[in-house]
Amino acid sequence: MEQGKINVQTENIFPIIKKFLYSDHEIFLRELISNAVDATQKLKTLASVGKFKDELGDLTIRVDVDKKKKTISVHDHGIGMTADEIKKYINEVAFSSAEEFVKKFKTKSEAEQNAIIGHFGLGFYSSFMVADKVEIESKTYKKGGSTRAIHWECDGSPNYKLEESDRQERGTTVTLYMDKDSKEFLEESRILELLNKYSKFLPVPIEFGTEKVTEEIEGEKDKDGNPKTKEVEKPRIINNTDPLWRKPPAECTDEDYKKFYRELYPYTFEEPLFHIHLNVDYPFNLTGILYFPKIKKNIEVQKNKIQLYSNQVFVTDSVEGIVPEFLTLLHGVIDSPDIPLNVSRSYLQSDAAVKKISNYIMKKVADKLEEHFKKDRKKFEKKWDDIRVFIEYGMITEEKFYERAEKFTLLKNIEDKYFTLEEYKKKVKDIQKDKEKKIIYIYTTDKEGQFSFIESARERGYDILLMDGVLDNHFINHLEQKLTDVQFKRVDADTVEKLIETKEEAPSKLDDKQKEGLKPVIERNINKEKFTVIFENLSENDPPAVVTQPEFMRRMKDMSALGGGSPFMGDMPDQYNLVINANNPVIGKILEEKEDKSQDKLVKQVYDLALLSQNLLKGEELNKFIKRSVDIIK
Ligand code: ADP
Repeated sequence: MEQGKINVQTENIFPIIKKFLYSDHEIFLRELISNAVDATQKLKTLASVGKFKDELGDLTIRVDVDKKKKTISVHDHGIGMTADEIKKYINEVAFSSAEEFVKKFKTKSEAEQNAIIGHFGLGFYSSFMVADKVEIESKTYKKGGSTRAIHWECDGSPNYKLEESDRQERGTTVTLYMDKDSKEFLEESRILELLNKYSKFLPVPIEFGTEKVTEEIEGEKDKDGNPKTKEVEKPRIINNTDPLWRKPPAECTDEDYKKFYRELYPYTFEEPLFHIHLNVDYPFNLTGILYFPKIKKNIEVQKNKIQLYSNQVFVTDSVEGIVPEFLTLLHGVIDSPDIPLNVSRSYLQSDAAVKKISNYIMKKVADKLEEHFKKDRKKFEKKWDDIRVFIEYGMITEEKFYERAEKFTLLKNIEDKYFTLEEYKKKVKDIQKDKEKKIIYIYTTDKEGQFSFIESARERGYDILLMDGVLDNHFINHLEQKLTDVQFKRVDADTVEKLIETKEEAPSKLDDKQKEGLKPVIERNINKEKFTVIFENLSENDPPAVVTQPEFMRRMKDMSALGGGSPFMGDMPDQYNLVINANNPVIGKILEEKEDKSQDKLVKQVYDLALLSQNLLKGEELNKFIKRSVDIIK
């Protein structure tokens, strides 16, 4: 037997590992299983290049939990280690042999090299986060010389023991004697949870415990002629070793993609709208499948469903900083050994490989959307409401995506007709004759609430866009910056006369003096802080008064409510215009009234009606209005 001291820089490395290395102690299991997978893949590679000629046998990796002994062990039938290798690979902290291995066995196929997993922090030593003592039993695949099986153990201090063992099987067993703070991992359910999280798609079968399955009994039939079945206890295999994203896209059917989606998200019942199969090996290696889900109003809860893998080993389900923000709304899997994994996120953002990957994904997403748009516009329009938030998000935040999406992004009007940006401009230009001015896009955010305004605009023959999406406030601002000759106006931003300005002004039934006389009468009956009185010459049939909120004011308020713009604006009271229709006969009637009291009554009624149609009349004021109205009809 040999005793020794692990060559580490400071005596205190173990307590440090234990406490600070990973906030997530659970990853120890991922590390051990990754090593086992790694050792198995190496053996397969050796066999494929003729350096290992024996039977590979069953390569299943097994995880065992012994609650009594308080141990967790991981068994593999991989390449194993000699005593020298243990000294080299295990005793030299953070020494990674994966690179050395790749150098040694440079096979032709890049994929095979990439199948060698490593570079996950401190790997094996993360065991000491949860264990008082760790043992390794290993027998190398090599023959002759000093290739006896060996036993290594270490109690968490830098001192280790190394001795010969009588293990006969090729491969390695790592056993962890769990410490008193880590008993949770002795629960079968906890281990199952971890295996499901980290090992679901590992390329080597992982076995844990047993499960009951129903099997047909050969040759036995019940009275209806159906085969008889029995319950049998079978080893439970945790993973799908051949996940869909690793297959060539040409071999996958639509049904395969749907099935795989359910495998990824067993608790999601909705089907994805469409998918993209990513598959490149130059200039970087990346495979994966991305799904477009139906995007709901509350976009925050939908983020971060993409799972990131490195050669089928789960790394994280937070791809922020790796792909552009808007892409985090997608679902699916990205698998790339080219994304540096154990570095900080701020580093990732500036990493050149990550930039390339992220641009590639963005381009593929745009390609796919454009393809759907071109192939079947009607079908694309049907899906539009479910994907528009995603596309708008991308267009607002990523210039490159905007340039692509410009061609297929759609605007929808209140009649549920869809237009591309180009088509819409053409349509509206034809109505708006005044070529010197900006083209006005009239929109509504609320078909019901802005009904009366919509009706007036419609009567004029104006088209009205429906912009009621969660991001539309921002999207409108963004489009105005991009389409410099376009201006958006909400349908209630002005009276219908002023929404789209025409050169000729309509004649007025009131002269300036009359208006001057009327203004104080109106002002004494309204909330002057909130409403500015202006006169306009609308049609006789238009209401006597209309409440509008100038586009600029409303947008500033909207922006500050969303946390943007000036915070000062958020505190300002809402400002409206009370537009008096100089041509409505009721206004003329107010002027003719002799008594102040009767004037006031009419003004109040006109004012309240205007408020009412903007849903601004509430509480006590509403009550007064009802009483007054009853008096009038009495
Ligand atoms: P990494 O996996 O990043 O190289 P580890 O600390 O996890 O770092 O492992 C160090 C080395 O120990 C591995 O590179 C490998 O050579 C060896 N090793 C660990 N576990 C096994 C195993 N189950 N079978 C064979 N070799 C192993």
